[in-house]
Amino acid sequence: RAKADGRHRARHYDKLMDEERRQRRWLAHELRDAGVRGELGLAFQPIADCATRRIIGQEALARWHHPVLGEIRPDIFIAIAEENGLIGEIGQQLLADALSIAAGWPTAWMLAINLSPVQLREPDLAERMLASMAAHRMAPDRIEVEVTEGVLIDRRETATANLARLRAAGVRIVMDDFGTGYSSLSSLQQFPFDKIKIDRSFIHGMGQSGPALSIVRASLGLGHSLNIPIVAEGVETEQQWQTLCEMGCDQIQGYLIGRPVAHRAEAA
Ligand code: C2E
Ligand code: MG
Ligand code: MG
Ligand code: MG
Repeated sequence: RAKADGRHRARHYDKLMDEERRQRRWLAHELRDAGVRGELGLAFQPIADCATRRIIGQEALARWHHPVLGEIRPDIFIAIAEENGLIGEIGQQLLADALSIAAGWPTAWMLAINLSPVQLREPDLAERMLASMAAHRMAPDRIEVEVTEGVLIDRRETATANLARLRAAGVRIVMDDFGTGYSSLSSLQQFPFDKIKIDRSFIHGMGQSGPALSIVRASLGLGHSLNIPIVAEGVETEQQWQTLCEMGCDQIQGYLIGRPVAHRAEAA
């Protein structure tokens, strides 16, 4: 009986896996033409100076609006794009779109772009990005590239070379989701990051009893002693803002300042 149950459960599990695989294959197929069908776009979320709350730039966040499934989360479709060799082309298009939109912003604002580990493994990524910036007349020192520590894990020579090339041209390299990986501290030793973005899970936990507040305080101390600015993501309340300011946080991002806002292409 137990054995039969186990077999039944295994079969059920296999069915679920098949279903999931089919879903992903279908999504991959749909993603292939999503760009030309105009389903891919960008949302922009502001980043502000902590003390004054003045906006200093915006982060570009990828969006996929599928005609049947609706909004598909970027962490899902970016992974599918990576698994199917589509990320290079999609990333290139999103960068070009982001640059042409940012061309209309105040020149004091920076543009933050997310890059995944797979993107950074393309040997010519940095050159292509710099060429795109030049074509859009965007100074590299207005660009920030956000990466997670995953870029420094395997096949990291190419990733590091890309980051170093971008950095040499003036692009700032930001460690995103700081504190959530397995080796946040050692990655700070492996690459000279220009800024640290504390993961929103710690900001969320700050108000509760528990270690989050101490972790945030320690991260701010770390940033100060490394002499690099710290940005807190996921700031939703006045209370969180106040606490962060008192502890000397440099920049904030989150619903308190502004939600990501989808950019709508203007009718030509
Ligand atoms: P991320 O770079 O850490 O982006 C922050 C995520 O937190 C965004 O989710 C944003 O909408 C959300 N968020 C911002 N403020 C708040 C807040 O106050 N409260 C809460 N609860 N959430 C907030 P989103 O847009 O779903 O993006 C998820 C992840 O997908 C991003 O994490 C990034 O890793 C990835 N991603 C997005 N766009 C791109 C892209 O163009 N290229 C690559 N490679 N990855 C991207
Ligand atoms: Mg980011
Ligand atoms: Mg983040
Ligand atoms: Mg994230």
